[in-house]
Amino acid sequence: MENLRKSVDKLALEGDLTDDEFLTLLSADESIDEYLFQKAAAVRQKHYGNDIYIRGLIEFTNYCKNDCFYCGIRRSNKNAERYRLTREEILLCAKNGHDLGFRTFVLQGGEDAYFNDEKLADIVRSLKEKYPDSAVTLSIGERTRESYQKLFDAGADRYLLRHETADIAHYNLLHPPEMSYENRVRCLKDLKEIGYQVGAGMMIGSPYQTKEHLLADIRFLQKFKPDMVGIGPFIPHHDTEYKDQKAGSLKQTLRLLSIIRLILPKVLLPATTALGTISPAGREQGILAGANVIMPNLSPKTVRKKYLLYDNKICTGDEAAECISCLTRRVQSVGCRIKISRGDAKK
Ligand code: SAH
Repeated sequence: MENLRKSVDKLALEGDLTDDEFLTLLSADESIDEYLFQKAAAVRQKHYGNDIYIRGLIEFTNYCKNDCFYCGIRRSNKNAERYRLTREEILLCAKNGHDLGFRTFVLQGGEDAYFNDEKLADIVRSLKEKYPDSAVTLSIGERTRESYQKLFDAGADRYLLRHETADIAHYNLLHPPEMSYENRVRCLKDLKEIGYQVGAGMMIGSPYQTKEHLLADIRFLQKFKPDMVGIGPFIPHHDTEYKDQKAGSLKQTLRLLSIIRLILPKVLLPATTALGTISPAGREQGILAGANVIMPNLSPKTVRKKYLLYDNKICTGDEAAECISCLTRRVQSVGCRIKISRGDAKK
């Protein structure tokens, strides 16, 4: 215990540990958690005060050409009811969101060829024209460098693309042969070079994940230095290869949130919907462990239940306005407040 505390002190002070120290921390029992969370929350507090940033998530298509073994909207899930929002519907979501105080819109979807560069660039341009005070984030998977460039030129500010795992063999256990870790990382590098604020990340407790894989993720994040890191527990989806696998744990997810806050002190770190799904107060605990972003759903109620990456997803029955008032209370319950702003990372 004494050694663990020393490791946490060192991590908070220097932002790094040896491989062995990280592995020991990742395998430790719960007695260290409170101490670790407090250190991470203090670092969040130092850089962001009590401010929690919000992102309005618009899940605009669940068509996907990929077949990731863990994901509920994978192409071979014939039970998924597919939908696409129209340009007008997307703009309406953003209008509702802007009225509610959102200054970042995240367009997330499966890899849907219908939304080619031209259509997407047009949507991004319209959003930026109507809401010049707001940031547009894309989360639409792997594309060519040219495509990323076109969307950036149209005005997109940020891009979320989780690396999913930094271990190649593990990557190949989660994805079909036509996908590769190499291309995932190529995408992340292209995005960064083009000038996007980039988000990477991984699931916690994904099938076959080991402590060594998490260590590889930590090392990857330290090297790549993303502006944002999206992590959440893996949660099985009943229509996938991995339906019988165990979900990731609350404890391990919170621990990783804290570690990431300490290795990348100014990073934008969401307490994700998946975290709120495995535990009722998961997102509040995420904030107490160092997270500083939440991403409520702005998608129309009619499609919410169709964007199911995993089972039992929360907030699929609420209107955006209900989500925001609920989250405002939740954020206040842990001594923080929702900040109305674009919420860029502190440099
Ligand atoms: N298609 C886009 C974005 C949509 S998926 C892309 O590939 O980036 C967004 C994230 O949801 C994925 O990166 C993955 O980490 C997460 N996800 C998918 N299935 C999940 C599951 N069963 N449990 C938890 N998270 C999941």
